[in-house]
Amino acid sequence: MVEICTIGGYSEVGKNMTAIKSGDEVVILDMGINVAKLINFEEEGNDRSTLDARKLINIGAIPDDTVIKEWGSKVKGIICSHCHLDHVAAIPYLADKYNCPVLGTPFTIEVIKTLLNDEKFKIRNKLVAVTVNSSYKLGNNFEIEFINITHSTLQTVMIAVHVKEGTIIYANDFKFDNYPVLGKKPNYERLRALGKENVLALIVDSLYSNSERKTPSEKVARELLKDVMLGTENQDSLIIVTTFASHLARIRSIIDFGKLLNRKIVLMGRSMFKYSDAAERIGLVNYSKEAEILAYARLMKKKLADIEKNRSKYVIVCTGNQGEPESVLSKMADGRLPLNFKQEDHIIFACKTIPEPLNIKNRAILEEKLKQKKVRIFSDIHVSGHCGREDLRDLIKMVRPQYIFPAHGDKHKLMGLAELAVEMGYSLGKTIHVMEDGKKITI
Ligand SMILES: [Zn+2]
Ligand SMILES: [Zn+2]
Repeated sequence: MVEICTIGGYSEVGKNMTAIKSGDEVVILDMGINVAKLINFEEEGNDRSTLDARKLINIGAIPDDTVIKEWGSKVKGIICSHCHLDHVAAIPYLADKYNCPVLGTPFTIEVIKTLLNDEKFKIRNKLVAVTVNSSYKLGNNFEIEFINITHSTLQTVMIAVHVKEGTIIYANDFKFDNYPVLGKKPNYERLRALGKENVLALIVDSLYSNSERKTPSEKVARELLKDVMLGTENQDSLIIVTTFASHLARIRSIIDFGKLLNRKIVLMGRSMFKYSDAAERIGLVNYSKEAEILAYARLMKKKLADIEKNRSKYVIVCTGNQGEPESVLSKMADGRLPLNFKQEDHIIFACKTIPEPLNIKNRAILEEKLKQKKVRIFSDIHVSGHCGREDLRDLIKMVRPQYIFPAHGDKHKLMGLAELAVEMGYSLGKTIHVMEDGKKITI
């Protein structure tokens, strides 16, 4: 008998957390935050530092783990799928309640260390880095396998939880990228091999289950970027590219094309520094050899004064792709940093606006300011890191689970996957379970 508790991420996008109980032992998969809820709280004039775990739960920013209160002493490990905040950023607030290690790939663990340092949190849990495509024994009942998969950050894994009843595969988040710009291809061999054994359940990313597509490779985003960076009249213009700081493959491409333009590359912003530094600490990238990376305003100001005079010699890679008011790009647009945009400077958004009201509003405000400066704007130079409906179909065909649990979304998104599963012969309420936050089920 296996019990699954869908703690968070089953009624909204964000704050992912799931617990699995086998015998008298439990593992927790992911411990994320709802980024939008936290930002909204601050937008209303509140201060995040006044929030403890209880208050964060109350505003919906972190998962309500009181639903597994009676499982607390049984938890043998907290296992993280990848480094995105909606999967790991509640660890500083919640992990300490559980007397167990936190497991993740080396990059995920480095990012968790950065999060803990940033917020000056001390947790008692040991942080354990597990190599991609290897296994780790937890307690008496669990063997945890990290299967290499692709997504919009490095060292993402599908987690296979092996228990005596079978295997539960946790596939939050993923896409099938056959031409990744950085990192390995998905480990299809292992997924197919598992499909021949006994996959009891699949817990899976349904963010884009309603999109009838196979998500394109990161290589496609690289081509889009190449086209705007190498194929436009930009000889005299400053080029600024903004993207997700954790998207190190995208940053790889920007650096490559910047070099082809014979320009110096400068990464700006605290999170730009944090993620590339975490990746450098474990030897995944070496961007500080190829680019200047500036985290702090004082250094940025000095550099920008120089860039202002030699604008055709630089590519700036910075934070602010969602129009965040305190990001480097917004500060530039406001004149809070010493750089004046000139007509026909190039601003490339290597991202998509996350469809949350706050993000949409912030991006619109930023773009309005940019338009007044008459810069050239290149939007949507991006492909998603999440699977579409046809990737989901392939995954289900590969691993052939007995039960499917759509995750990572509201009801509409979860139902999108449920409809696909019905098409593939599963039965709603029997072999596909559309859950909500805070619910338990026995399979
Ligand atoms: Zn993710
Ligand atoms: Zn996610």
